[in-house]
Amino acid sequence: MTDLTARKAELAENLARVEQRINGACVAAGREPGDVTLIVVTKTYPASDVRLLAELGVTHVAENRDQDAAPKAAECAGLGLQWHFVGQLQTNKARSVAGYADFVHSVDRSRLVTSLAGAAGRAGRELGCLIQVALDAPSGSLGSRGGVAPDAVEGLADAVAEADGLRLAGLMTVAPLEGPYAGRPGAAFERLREISSGLRAAHPAANMVSAGMSADLEEAVAAGATHVRVGSAVLGDRPRLR
Ligand SMILES: *Cc1c(COP(=O)(O)O)cnc(C)c1O
Repeated sequence: MTDLTARKAELAENLARVEQRINGACVAAGREPGDVTLIVVTKTYPASDVRLLAELGVTHVAENRDQDAAPKAAECAGLGLQWHFVGQLQTNKARSVAGYADFVHSVDRSRLVTSLAGAAGRAGRELGCLIQVALDAPSGSLGSRGGVAPDAVEGLADAVAEADGLRLAGLMTVAPLEGPYAGRPGAAFERLREISSGLRAAHPAANMVSAGMSADLEEAVAAGATHVRVGSAVLGDRPRLR
């Protein structure tokens, strides 16, 4: 067996296990498995893995650093993949990200909205935008890993909805490691669901709920997530660089 064949078999096995977990969580929650989209987070892994994943039927991939994502997306153009950007984003990277991303999950300030809108316009593309919610951030501050406090979601959502080139797609969160939600991902995702209901009252089409990773995808599916972002359970443990 070549290295690539062995890697493909390993990825296929991991994917099957993750898909089984998602299906099981859907059944437990009385949801249709087709209602939850798996986004495979390929950060730190090479373009060759992205290609294998595409061959195995993966259609959504995510990255968290533009420096890595831009060349990978270029190398993997033509595979029919949707690219999701899920990391903290500097405004000076907006132009690059708008060139390949279909969705940005980490919108958390109005300056970024302005930069992304300008970049999407210049690129002639429409970017789906999710507001990243930091469930543990005090009112008026950003979360330690990005994201806005829950009470700032509405204002930022309105700004995205009004911006040319951007489409308000929904909300994203990462279960907090500290504060009242530490160790309680299910409670965190239920809170996100409430915030999403409030958002959809004003913006009915903003129905994406991006929540859940390798460790807590079941809790996210139980709380209504429409998109789970899974890295290590599919690709293997990452070196602890980032
Ligand atoms: C890395 C990452 C993930 C995937 O995490 P795993 O624990 O590897 O599944 C999901 N969301 C974001 C924002 C990430 O940075």
